[in-house]
Amino acid sequence: MSRADHDVVVIGGGQAGLAVAYYLRRAEIDFVVLNADDRPGGAWLHTWESLRLFSPAGYSSLPGWPMPSSRTAGFPTRDEVIDYLTRYEERYRLPIERPCDVRSVERDGELLRLEFEDRRSITARAVVSATGTWRAPYIPAYADRDRFRGVQLHSADYQNPDPFVGKRVLIVGGGNSGAQILAEVSEGAETVWVTRKDPVFLPDDVDGRVLFERASARVPGDFDPAANTTLGDIVMVPPVKAARDRGVLNAVRPFERFTESGVVWRDGSESRHDAVLWCTGFRPATDHLRSLGVVESDGRIEVVDQRSVKEPRLWLAGYGNWTGAASATLIGAGRTARELVPRISAALAEAKSSPDLDGRT
Ligand code: FAD
Repeated sequence: MSRADHDVVVIGGGQAGLAVAYYLRRAEIDFVVLNADDRPGGAWLHTWESLRLFSPAGYSSLPGWPMPSSRTAGFPTRDEVIDYLTRYEERYRLPIERPCDVRSVERDGELLRLEFEDRRSITARAVVSATGTWRAPYIPAYADRDRFRGVQLHSADYQNPDPFVGKRVLIVGGGNSGAQILAEVSEGAETVWVTRKDPVFLPDDVDGRVLFERASARVPGDFDPAANTTLGDIVMVPPVKAARDRGVLNAVRPFERFTESGVVWRDGSESRHDAVLWCTGFRPATDHLRSLGVVESDGRIEVVDQRSVKEPRLWLAGYGNWTGAASATLIGAGRTARELVPRISAALAEAKSSPDLDGRT
C-alpha cells in the first residue's frame, strides 16, 4: 500500500464532523479534521442572532457528552450551541486544523489527495466529507430577479431585523427559517409571506423532538400529530406563536415575476417592496468534490450506506436524510457517525489485506 499522511481525513468541523471524529478516536483510527472556519461552531457561527434550538438540550447532544441545559429560559441559544461544540472538541482533544479550506479532492493512485486554498496538500486512504450546507444557499429561479432594485438577502446572511424596520418586506420560503425570520421582521416591518404551498405547522405543544423522531422513524404509533412530519415542518416556537397571534402568519402563493420596485402576482396585480428575504434553503456544499466526478446537479452524491458509489474511498456525513436518518441534526449526527465509523474501519482493513496491482499484499 502507498503511504498516506492519514488513514482518514474528515473535511468539516461542524457537528457532523465532530461526531465522526469522536467515533474515529474511539476506534483508534489515525485521522485529522480540516475545518475552513477559524473557530469551532460550524454553521451555528453564521446563523441569525436570535436562533435557538427547537428541542431541549438533552435531546440535542453529540455522542459521549450531553449538552448542558440552557442557562436562559427555553431551548438553547445559538451561542450556547457554539459553546457546547467548542468545549466538546476540547474535551475529547480532537485533532482539528483550522482555518483549512479544502479546495478539491483528487485521486492519487490508491489514495485521495486533498488540496488546500494555500496550495498545500495531504493524502488519505479515506475521506469523510462533512461540509454541511451553509456555504451553498439556494435561491429558486424567479423571472426578472435581476431587475429588482431593492435589497435581496438569503437567510444565510440574515442577522437581525434591524435593517428592515419600517420597510415593506417579502419573505419567501415556508420552512422554519421563513417562519422564524417572518416572526421577528414583522414586528417592525410590513411583511408578505410567500410559500409554494400551505406551510405545515406542528401542534403548539410539540417541539422539534418529533421531527427528529419522525426522520429516524422512532416514534411509536400512538403519537401522530402529523404522520408525514418532516424536518421542514414548522415548530411553534414562542416568537412564531406570537406572530400568529398578531395575525401575520398567513402565507400566499408565489408571484409571477419581479419588477424594479416589487413583484407582479399571478392575477396581474402588482405590489411594491423594499426587500426580499430568501428563506429558501440550501444545497449540499460539495464543490470541493466536483473534481472526483461524483457530484450530481443538485449537489448530492449517490451513496449506499454513506459511501459514494462512484468513489468508494469517499464517505459522507451530515447534509440530510440521504446521508443517514436526521443526520443534519445534533442528535442524528451522532447516530449516523456511530454507524459510519465501523464501515470505514472495515473498508480500510479490507484494502490493507487485498493485493495491490503488482500482486503484493
Ligand atoms: P455545518 O455545521 O455547516 O459544518 C460544516 C463545517 O464544514 C463548517 O465549519 C464549514 O466551515 C466547514 N467546511 C465547509 N466546506 C469546507 C471545505 N471545503 N473545507 C474545509 N471545511 C469546510 N439542528 C439541530 O440539531 N437542532 C435544531 O434545533 C436545529 N434548528 C435549526 C433551525 C434552523 C432555522 C436551521 C436553519 C437549522 C437548524 N438546525 C438544527 C440544523 C443545523 O443548523 C445544521 O443542519 C447543522 O449545523 C449542520 O451540521 P454539519 O456539521 O453537517 O454542517
